[in-house]
Order: sequence, then structure tokens, then C-alpha cells
Amino acid sequence: MTSVRKLNPGYGQFRWVVLLLAVAVILPTLCLLWFMNEAVSSTRLAVRQKLVTIYEDQLPTVARQVEEGFAADCRSAKDKARGLDPYGQFRLAVTEHHCEGLIVYSPNGDPLYPALSAGDSATTRAAERFADAWELEFAEAEYEQAAQRYEQYARISDGRARLIARLAKSRCLRKLGRGDDAIAECKEVATSPLVDAGEDSILVLIANARLLLLNWTQGQPAYTELTAETYRALLSMLYRSNQAGAALPADQNLFVAQKALEIAQANPELDVYAREYFKDSLAKLVAAEERSLAFVEQFPAAETLDDWPADTLQRLPGPEDTAYYGIAHRDDAGSCVTLLSREGARSLLRDYLQSFTDIYVEFCVLDDAGETILGRAEPANEAFATAPLGQFLPGWTITVHFRSGNVFEQAASEQIAIYTWTGILVIMLILLSGAVAAKSIGKQVRLNKLKNDFIATVTHELKTPLASMRVLVETLLEGNYRDQQQVTEYLQLISRENERLSRLIDNFLTFSRMERNKQAFRMRPTSATAIARAAAEAAKTRLGRGNCVFETDIPEDGPEVQADPDAMVTVLVNLLDNAYKYSGDEKHIMLRLRAQDNAVCFTVSDNGMGIPRRATRKIFRRFYQLDRSLSRRAEGCGLGLSIAKFIVEAHAGSIGVESKPGQGSTFTVRLRAR
Ligand code: ADP
Repeated sequence: MTSVRKLNPGYGQFRWVVLLLAVAVILPTLCLLWFMNEAVSSTRLAVRQKLVTIYEDQLPTVARQVEEGFAADCRSAKDKARGLDPYGQFRLAVTEHHCEGLIVYSPNGDPLYPALSAGDSATTRAAERFADAWELEFAEAEYEQAAQRYEQYARISDGRARLIARLAKSRCLRKLGRGDDAIAECKEVATSPLVDAGEDSILVLIANARLLLLNWTQGQPAYTELTAETYRALLSMLYRSNQAGAALPADQNLFVAQKALEIAQANPELDVYAREYFKDSLAKLVAAEERSLAFVEQFPAAETLDDWPADTLQRLPGPEDTAYYGIAHRDDAGSCVTLLSREGARSLLRDYLQSFTDIYVEFCVLDDAGETILGRAEPANEAFATAPLGQFLPGWTITVHFRSGNVFEQAASEQIAIYTWTGILVIMLILLSGAVAAKSIGKQVRLNKLKNDFIATVTHELKTPLASMRVLVETLLEGNYRDQQQVTEYLQLISRENERLSRLIDNFLTFSRMERNKQAFRMRPTSATAIARAAAEAAKTRLGRGNCVFETDIPEDGPEVQADPDAMVTVLVNLLDNAYKYSGDEKHIMLRLRAQDNAVCFTVSDNGMGIPRRATRKIFRRFYQLDRSLSRRAEGCGLGLSIAKFIVEAHAGSIGVESKPGQGSTFTVRLRAR
């Protein structure tokens, strides 16, 4: 049965090393990681708190800025509108102040704009005034005679009546198929100088004449010039008062403006005039007028707005998706209400908040019904501060939200990066110093173990030969022997023990020098044959005894090697010695020298007990012995092969073994040939 000899394994000391490493490396690292984690989260918290405080402090300023901006805009709008006629105010509000509607009330509360046309139309009036001509035209279809009657009326009448008569005549001429005459007649009305001085109803007549003329002339090459002129003239009547202060009533104006817009959409060459004249805002003016007309129905007099505080922005009652906002202004000259759509209110407020755009937070504005007007309807984070928007926007609030969840991460990123890098650096330093400490402690532990093993082995191994020599010497001294032959036998035994002691001491010394790295090899070109022969010679006395067959196969002209011959002889003697020790009663040992390619191989083979496969590498370790009891008998201390390996490797060579348990072993030492 084989048993592996174990000298003091030193595990106790290793345990201490591990414990020391745990204390010196792992604990501080864990503490550092914990500290870093704490530091990072408190930095995030601190940054959050800092940001919250900054923006909480800033919010009233933002709210004030919005309020002041709004009040200033109201003031400037009022200043600009001062002295303008209602249409002037309307145009200003729509084209320059985001407004989408306007109502102007007189000081006594009646709507000045949008004003509606008076009850009876030009047609009714014509029917009453020119009854016979009317009869001829509509009842009897006598257009020729009707035209003549209308002509007579035109001559004797003046002002509005004349215009009505001419218009009626042109209609009859048209019905008679006299298109050009009809156009000439209609042109008379369309270009009437009364457009500058006439009252509202005259303006309505002229506008109708212009529309009629456009209708008749459009698309006729002969009248291109006239069409353009008429269209320009039509535009010049819209959204303004004439020199006498009269203007088209809002409903008429809206009708004519819608027609003008339709004509522009159908005729690109006329569209140019509309764009030029209204700076691209004709459609906007039309929409705003429509809204103003709808609004004045809801609030027909200034008193109906009495509970609406002046200069405040308020949501008007109405469906949510078409929410409208209004601002009421009042002064001595009367009062007015400007209308804003949700988009209009949004762009108005956006202007005031522009200077507060921020990467960390967004501001949202909620109207007096709590609906979000500016900012995302569902912000990523809850509002952390809210402020009212002041007296001009009663019930309106401004809220501030962090843009995203990781905003603190961003704000704290620099600080966190410093912590992380410092932490990583410190951990690396700890690990590095731990590794250095572990290495040096490990080395010390190994050395210690080696020293202990060495002392234990030396004392143990020296004791046996010394004791047996002492017994033999004492026996001889006391004369306890039978004859001279027994004396010789005892002396031979003493000599063998002495030899063994010398070998042991040689090995110990080599090992000790090797450990201190003081083994200085004297390398020189040497014949491999000489080395092998010297080894065979040294081992011969021991191996040549009794029932041991020792053979050599050493060629005369073995190659040269660069080697320390004494050291190499020690290697081979150790191998031969082992072959002797670990073979049975019938020993057969062979030392062979072979040249192979550029190498030289020394092989020592025996027919001994062999070595199990798993132990073929371990046997080259210091103090390793396969079977301690056997080694004891065979006088070993587990150093021979480790010394051999050390020497061979110092010669840049290799040593190995091939063996099968029970069938012997072959050790091969390979050196480079010169
Ligand atoms: P030792 O002084 O014990 O012989 P070595 O280092 O020379 O120490 O050998 C280590 C171990 O290798 C031995 O204890 C033995 O078990 C095994 N060994 C060495 N040479 C042989 C061999 N030729 N046959 C069988 N076992 C061997």
C-alpha cells in the first residue's frame, strides 16, 4: 500500500495569510464600496435638494415676469390702439398681437365693432323707390324699358338713389345680353367717388358693384386691367373706414372679404394683390371677424361683461377642445375684449417664459380651469413647486417639473464621477498592496515551512545511520564479536552507513545551497561520455554488489555538452541510487547515453517497483516521497529528484520519467548538444 509522506504542510500559516488578506483587502474594499454608494446617493439627494431650492426661489420671479410681460403687452396694445378707429384696432389686434377676435364697445356700452348693417337692404329700398321700373324688370321682364326707366331715375336722383338706379340699369342691360354696356354701367357705380365720403349703405352698394363687376369681367382678356383695378379697389374697402369715418358693417365686410378670399384662391394673379395688401393675413382677418361676430352675440353690450375684471386673461365658457380666452380692457374711451385661441394664449405665454428655458426643469402654465396651456399635459415628474400667476391672470398657475427622472444623475454626474474614480483608484491600490503583501507573506510562509521540513528531515535522517554506527562501534569496542570475519562484516556495515551519511550530507548541502541560490555551476564544454562514465564509476561500488546487475551503454564518442560535469554526475548518481533503492531483490539497472538530433539523452532504467502515473510529476517536488516506510528502508529523504531537476534546469535541459507500477521506471535527462 502506498502512502504519501506529508511534512508540516503549513496550512495553519496559510489560514492566517487568508485571514490577514481578508482584513487588509476585502474589508476596506467593502467599506469603500459602501461609502461610495452612500456618497453617491447623498450627492444625488443633495443635488436634488439644491435644484429644488434654486427653482422654488426662482418660481416667483418667473411668475412675476409672466405677469409683468402680460401687463406690459396689454398696455402697449392699448397705447397702440389709442386713436384708431374700430377697424384699425381690429387689424392691429389680429395682425400684431396674436388675437383672434375683437369687440369694441362705445362708452355707453354699444358695440362699435363688429357693427351690423341696418335692417333694410338696397334691394328693398330700390323696390320701393323705383316701383314702376321694378315692375317692368321683375314682373313683366321688359328689360329694355326697365333700363330706360332706371336711366331716368339715375339722372334725376343723387347719392345713393342714383347708385341704386345705375346698378339696376346695368343688371337689365346684362339680362338683355349687352354685357359690355352692363359692365360700363356697373363700373360707374364701382368707381363712384362717394366711396371716400359716403355713409355705410353707400359703401355696401359700391362693394356690391365691385363684386358684380369682378364677376362679369373675370376671365375676359379684354377686361384684365379692369378686373385687377376693381379687385384692388375692393380690397381697399375692407377692414377700414373712409374719410367720413364710415365703414362696411361687419357682416357685409365679412361677406365681401370671404368673396375676396375666394377670388384670390381661384386667381393667382389677384392673390398677389391680396397678399401684398394684407401682408398674408386676409384669411386670419376673415376668421377673426367671424369669431368676433359670434362673440358679440354672446355679449351684445358692455354691461354683460361687468363681472369680468379689467385687463385679466380669462377662459371663456365653451367646449374644452375649442377653448377660447379673452382679455377685457376698459377706459374712458369705452371698453373692448380681445379674443385668443388656446394656441394664441400659448404663444403669448411662451414669449414670456423664453428666457427661462432650462435643461433640468420645465415650466407648465395651467389656466383658470386647471387645463395645461403651456408645457406637456402629462409631465414626466410631479410638480415640485407651484405659484399663482398674479392679478392679471386670476386663477392661473405656473408649475415647475424636473424634465426626467435622471436629471439629478446628470447634475450630480461630475461629482459622482470623481467619487467613482477615486474609489476605483483606492480599491486598485488596496488590491495591489494586498497582492504585494500576500506574495511576500506567502514567500515567507513557504520559506518557513521549507526550513522546518529541512530541519525535521535532517535530524531524522542523520539519526538513523549515526545510531547504527554507534551500536556497531560499541559492539566492536566491547569485543562482542565471534571472529575476524564478523569484525570485517561490522566494519563493512559501518563503512556503508558512513557512505550513506556522506550521500545524505552531500544532498543536504546541495539543497541548502540551491535554496540560497548559491549553487554556482562551472559550465564548460564536456564530453557526455565522460559524464556518464564518471557517474557509472561512482555508482559501481554500490550497484555492483550482490544480486544487482548494473549495465552501461555508453558510446565512446558521445557528443559534447556545455555543463558542470560534477553537478551532472550528481544528477546521474542520484538517479542510479534511486534505481537501486526502489528495485526488488533481483535488480537490473541500466545507464544509457544516446545522441538525438541536437540533444543528448542520459537514461537510467530499472526493473523496480515503478511509479503510479499520478505521482510522476510530484516526485520532483522537495520532500515528496511516495511510500514513506519504503523510503525509510531505502534511506531516502525526498530531496534527490528535486536536486536533479534543479541542476538539469540550470543546464537548460529537461528531466522526466516513464514508468508503470511493478514494471520499473526509466528516467531521462535531456541536454542540448554543443
Ligand atoms: P528519496 O530520497 O526519497 O529517494 P527522491 O527525491 O530521490 O527522494 O525520490 C522521491 C521519490 O520518488 C521516492 O521517495 C520514491 O518514492 C520515488 N522514486 C524515485 N526514483 C524511483 C525509482 N527509480 N523507482 C520507483 N520510485 C522512485
